Amino acid sequence: MTLSRKSPPEREPDEIKFVDLSAQRLRLGDRIERAIARVLEHGMFVLGPEVDELERRLAAFSGVRHVVSCSSGTDALLLALMAWDVGPGDAVFVPSFTFAATAEVVALLGATPVFCDVDEKTFSLDPSSLGPALRKTARAGLAPKGVIPVDLFGQPADYSTIDHIASEHGMWVLADAAQSLGAERSGTPVGTMAPATATSFYPSKPLGCYGDGGAVFTNDSDMAARLRSLRTHGEGTHRYEHVAVGINARLDTVQAAVLIEKLAIFPEEIVLRLRVAQRYEEALAEIVAVPRLGQDTTSAWAQYAIGIDHRDEVAAKLLAQGIPTAVHYPKPLHRQPAYRHHPAVADGRSVSDALSETLLCLPMHPYLSEHAQDRVIDAVRQAVRRPAATSS
Ligand SMILES: *Cc1c(COP(=O)(O)O)cnc(C)c1O
Repeated sequence: MTLSRKSPPEREPDEIKFVDLSAQRLRLGDRIERAIARVLEHGMFVLGPEVDELERRLAAFSGVRHVVSCSSGTDALLLALMAWDVGPGDAVFVPSFTFAATAEVVALLGATPVFCDVDEKTFSLDPSSLGPALRKTARAGLAPKGVIPVDLFGQPADYSTIDHIASEHGMWVLADAAQSLGAERSGTPVGTMAPATATSFYPSKPLGCYGDGGAVFTNDSDMAARLRSLRTHGEGTHRYEHVAVGINARLDTVQAAVLIEKLAIFPEEIVLRLRVAQRYEEALAEIVAVPRLGQDTTSAWAQYAIGIDHRDEVAAKLLAQGIPTAVHYPKPLHRQPAYRHHPAVADGRSVSDALSETLLCLPMHPYLSEHAQDRVIDAVRQAVRRPAATSS
């Protein structure tokens, strides 16, 4: 069978994209169309053979025993919390500087997200924030249950320090690795740094599908079995036996088929991202704050965030030259209407506040040409140059 094979839209040669999925599609040729056509042919649209195959390949990629795919990164986080029976009265520590999903899943289960601050260099959960957060939790009469560090912008959080504090208090650690698949620390790949790791296959994430998707990684066989049951309505040993209250959170077979093709080129794409990040650093480190990696740590470079004053002005100047940028995230969660009633460590101005005002994410994807990147770099240089004091 053949799908109608429209070529990707004509590309403006000079257009700079924030994330360029059409360049990736050109590279993959018709492999994705053929993979989708195979699913249309066999017709097993839910939990078809590609889902198992993807899970096996992701497990091999990350050196983890079990990968349970699911319908989004948010559901990956939610399923892990459900597997640990998180509920009312439980406190779960999350960074305030993250995407809403990290705290949302905690609140959805009736538990309390407790907002910690982040490190100003790595942008991820500051372990020294956990002490004050634990004291706040105790005063509020909540039971500390777990920590969800976020590998913001692609760099793994400081799991060894966080894990140490968590185990002292009998807490689990759930890695929010929605942005960091493909990174590692001291040779340990993302997927094995915490008892459970959640990732996202949202199209613009480092490994993205053509819709929503996610997965949980774990070495714990019981956990994996609970996750599989929970993603299919808490199913037991047969379809109409329900051993838990679950949800419908399966990954579509079509998305698994897309991901198998993209995973094949993912290791190379990680190297290409690293090269883009290195060129940004070489060109910009002296004039703006550039991201810093911890020792022995790599990043999947989901975002390349520079720190600057007058961020919004700079963004407008870049846009005027056809250079798209993004602000991740303009407001810390502990200041959001939906979350500000929850406990937060921040007392006054926090690192999360400062980052939300100064970080600007530059175009970052594996197919950013040197020529295009040089245009971005020149534009940033011009935009941050302070106008000479005028004396008129
Ligand atoms: C994208 C993202 C999520 C949610 O993933 P979805 O697949 O969009 O549900 C969660 N946490 C972080 C840090 C993210 O960047």
